Amino acid sequence: MTAGRYRVVIIGAGIMGLSTAWHLAKRGITDVLVVDRGYLCGGASGRNGGGVRAQFSSESNIRLMRESIEICRTFAAEMKINVWFRQGGYLFLTRTKQRARMLEASAKLQRDCGLETRLLAPREVRDIVPEIDPTGVELASFNPGDGVVFPWPFVWGYAKAAKDLGVEIATFTEVEGFDTNNGRITGVRLVRTRHDAIVAEDRDERTTAAGPGPRVDASRARVIPEGERFVVECDTVLCCAGAWSPSIARMVGIELPNKPHRHEICSTEPLKPWLGPLVADLTDGLYFSQSMRGEIVGGIAVEPVPHGINQRSSAQFLATYARSLVRTVPSMSRVKVLRQWAGCYDLTPDGNPIVGHVDGCENLVMACGFMGHGFMMAPVMGRLLAEHVATDETSELFARWNLRRFREGKLLSESMIIG
Ligand SMILES: Cc1cc2nc3c(=O)[nH]c(=O)nc-3n(C[C@H](O)[C@H](O)[C@H](O)COP(=O)(O)OP(=O)(O)OC[C@H]3O[C@@H](n4cnc5c(N)ncnc54)[C@H](O)[C@@H]3O)c2cc1C
Repeated sequence: MTAGRYRVVIIGAGIMGLSTAWHLAKRGITDVLVVDRGYLCGGASGRNGGGVRAQFSSESNIRLMRESIEICRTFAAEMKINVWFRQGGYLFLTRTKQRARMLEASAKLQRDCGLETRLLAPREVRDIVPEIDPTGVELASFNPGDGVVFPWPFVWGYAKAAKDLGVEIATFTEVEGFDTNNGRITGVRLVRTRHDAIVAEDRDERTTAAGPGPRVDASRARVIPEGERFVVECDTVLCCAGAWSPSIARMVGIELPNKPHRHEICSTEPLKPWLGPLVADLTDGLYFSQSMRGEIVGGIAVEPVPHGINQRSSAQFLATYARSLVRTVPSMSRVKVLRQWAGCYDLTPDGNPIVGHVDGCENLVMACGFMGHGFMMAPVMGRLLAEHVATDETSELFARWNLRRFREGKLLSESMIIG
């Protein structure tokens, strides 16, 4: 069964897929279907810490994130949704001399790129967060322009704005495989994973009748029952499936080097406001911030975690997190944890994403491997991906971040990675 034809099918309705869909629609490409096997916010985009920072060690990441932070500042007004953006800065701590040298070099580069990053001696850390015990801290850096958002409304904002421009979003619709011909994807094979999803019938006729603007016409729609299979045809497929991307690429015989890696996070009872920045310790991967509702939201790297999709919580995480958090802020020893959850980082060997066309499948564009910083990148990356899909032009950044760098041994580096 064939259910319509689209110019672009986007796999994954996380922040990356939805930001790109909205940017495509803004460029006039509204013939876009976004599919997701689950619900909005079911992937990493609904499970992350909401940190948004420009403190990175590579120029590309610093410059991209400067733009993303600017977008965060205006997002609420433009999308008419409160994303709880708060610019309290990011305070990075290091506890080894080697990492301190890296922090110095990164801070210099950040200042050269126009950030206000400053380095702090251990005792100066308390000027920013008086509750921190600086014992064992070697060096810290602080950029006041970094901040945090509440991830869910960010995702919902993009979804609604994209839909308003005519993009179709089909949740509970899983990609099972592709039809291919001559190295191109001709059809995306889909299966409904829940009964209540609605797909419009007879799409071509509906498009002609509806003209521009939202095209989902309830009177012409029908409920597709769970388990029903169908195929959509398309010109371009964009894979924004996060940690699931390797399994999507494998459906057309492409092996990606990225690996899913569980990352856990938790949230405390609400406290009176006391913490300005997001604090991140580059030595053990601890990070925590205070949400505008007062909770302390944070996580830490727990080793060893075998690679693979795993979104279950562990007691080991809580113990590791609590030890490190209390070492850093002793007064946190009596706070109560209310919620704990987990999501998957999408790890690449060099800490940088994989974006752009891939050799071996002419019309497949990848956007994955965003490690623990893909949420903050999506506002700017969506714009760049839409430009890439719309114009077929490859920018210098996309050439550098292409999959083939792993085959050619041209690995890049990014050392300011949390977790
Ligand atoms: C605990 C944690 C904390 C984090 N903290 C931060 C942070 O502070 N700041 C930051 O910037 N980033 C953070 N990240 C990383 C960030 O969340 C991700 O990089 C980002 O959300 C990736 O977005 P995405 O849209 O690419 O992927 P996702 O949000 O994972 O979306 C991918 C979607 O693809 C769908 N999908 C998968 N397979 C299929 C299929 N076969 N068919 C259809 N759909 C499919 C999934 O259901 C999913 O919804 C964190 C991640 C975690 C786990």
